[in-house]
Amino acid sequence: MNSEEPIRPDDWCPRPGFAPLGSNAPLAPPIYPSAVYRVADPATADAQLGQPGQGYVYARDGQPNADWLAEKCRVLHAADAAVLCGSGMAALGLVLLAQLKQGDHVIASQDLYGRSLVLLRQELPRLGVDISVIDTTNAEDVKTHLRAETKLVVVETISNPLLRVADLPMLAQLTHRVGAKLVVDNTFAGPTVCRPLEQGANLVVESLTKIINGHSDVTLGLVAALGSSADRLAATASTWGFTPGAFDCWLATRGLATLAVRAERASANAQAVSDYLSQQSEVVAVHYPGLTRHMDYEIAQRVLSNPPGTMISFQLQRMTERRWGTAERFIQAVADEIPFCPSLGDLSTTLSHPASTSHRGLTPQERTRLGISDELIRLSVGIESAESIQATLSRGLEAIRAME
Ligand SMILES: *Cc1c(COP(=O)(O)O)cnc(C)c1O
Repeated sequence: MNSEEPIRPDDWCPRPGFAPLGSNAPLAPPIYPSAVYRVADPATADAQLGQPGQGYVYARDGQPNADWLAEKCRVLHAADAAVLCGSGMAALGLVLLAQLKQGDHVIASQDLYGRSLVLLRQELPRLGVDISVIDTTNAEDVKTHLRAETKLVVVETISNPLLRVADLPMLAQLTHRVGAKLVVDNTFAGPTVCRPLEQGANLVVESLTKIINGHSDVTLGLVAALGSSADRLAATASTWGFTPGAFDCWLATRGLATLAVRAERASANAQAVSDYLSQQSEVVAVHYPGLTRHMDYEIAQRVLSNPPGTMISFQLQRMTERRWGTAERFIQAVADEIPFCPSLGDLSTTLSHPASTSHRGLTPQERTRLGISDELIRLSVGIESAESIQATLSRGLEAIRAME
């Protein structure tokens, strides 16, 4: 017969019933979902809460899974500090809240990610910050809009959907002349294709949701910064509650482990697929910065690795007057292998249709001015074989040829 006292479930259930693992450390990182940590004594509590980085106390202020992933990203970007957020938008929001105050002015590229433009145009003015949305590929335009109050210039390394490449050293020079900081959303490139901090940027923002995690099962964001640009980031993230959950960080740590090899393969595929598409009569334009005819080919040679990333867009020849008719036929013909998913950076090749997704909020005239037709298809090239991707695209082109 068991001689132990019977336990009281109401005491036993809530108390922690395990001992830590000690020196028998696992190779794979454990997940630490704990929202709070045990503190040895009041003096330790006082020290840890007063001085961040002295140990874990409360998960919103810091937890191991976020720190491991942040350190991987910090090193990849050669940054002084890296802070994770619950999404790419939270990461951009963090930069704005940590850097700006009432009366400041921000310059933003007109080609930014749609939701970033909403954040900058609609939220910043409510906080008393003035915003100019301009063509940042035009140096004269940037010079005209820079002023003493300008604190941030926000651009993307590679823009959506025409893959314009920002001349980061030139923008950094102009920006720093008035004492402002250059903020670069590097999501379309990722740290293996571009490290903006080495080209003059002060802060980098990335959506880890895309190629860095690479498996379409996590929403996370990153801010990486140099010098004093990092000062307020960690505290502001915790105060506004932007910090991420442990499980998402753990998954993205696993995704990031294969980033370099995925990006290398997918970029080589993208170069091959863009060459292939350039030779097809049903394709009237191909946008990829690795093509010598691309508007920013020369900038890409200086600013990006070679081949320059995994994103392509191309314009189909219009085969019907019905709105989106050509794109719809193409999308249906390739959907089994290349699904229509309005995101990017997955293992598999996916496509998007900017006119009905990312740029649907614009007027037809605005889309025409930006060069975004109803026949424009955006490809996020994956790690399959280039031959297989081309065979699928070829099936899509046959399907639209049959519309004649
Ligand atoms: C997806 C994306 C974002 C936003 O990231 P989330 O993780 O979805 O919040 C920002 N910028 C670019 C360029 C993106 O593609």
